[in-house]
Amino acid sequence: QREEFTSYLYQVLDRYEMNKPESIHMEKNIPNTKAYVWMDRDKITQVLDNVITNAIKYSPDGGKIRVKLDIRRHYLLVSIQDQGMGIAYDKLDKIFERFYRVDKARNRKLGGTGLGLAITKELVEAHHGQIWAQSSEGKGTTILFTLPLMSSKRGDVR
Ligand code: ATP
Ligand code: MG
Repeated sequence: QREEFTSYLYQVLDRYEMNKPESIHMEKNIPNTKAYVWMDRDKITQVLDNVITNAIKYSPDGGKIRVKLDIRRHYLLVSIQDQGMGIAYDKLDKIFERFYRVDKARNRKLGGTGLGLAITKELVEAHHGQIWAQSSEGKGTTILFTLPLMSSKRGDVR
């Protein structure tokens, strides 16, 4: 379905602001521009949910979570940055594998199956987007994903 992403993202984040722990601060950097994408709303909501849940789960109290939307010429870029424990450089690709969890002992108490990001990657790729991670151990992690924009020249039929 054709969706306007900017207002959709505001809606999803507003829901988080109401439900998140008080000790986590969320910062939004979202432009005032309309961006049309072809997406399954429920599936992209699951993507955002998995990534934001991780950011909260792997962050200390008082951590800041920054959500940024960049609108480029042919795609949009969403980045979710946290100030948590981070991920070692050699493990950055592995976190998108099924059942992979960075530190089993450390993570056991945090719970989870290690499927969240594997499903997330499948959903983003099913939308012809890409997803990757940047991180610095001890400083935080940023998960970035893209979605192709609908061209207004082509097919913008009403
Ligand atoms: P699930 O999402 O299935 O409940 P999970 O959170 O362990 O379990 P994934 O979301 O797939 O699984 O993440 C895989 C692993 O990547 C996590 O176990 C964690 O070690 C690491 N990871 C993911 N996001 C972050 C983050 N924001 N900061 C630090 N480590 C992370
Ligand atoms: Mg997870």
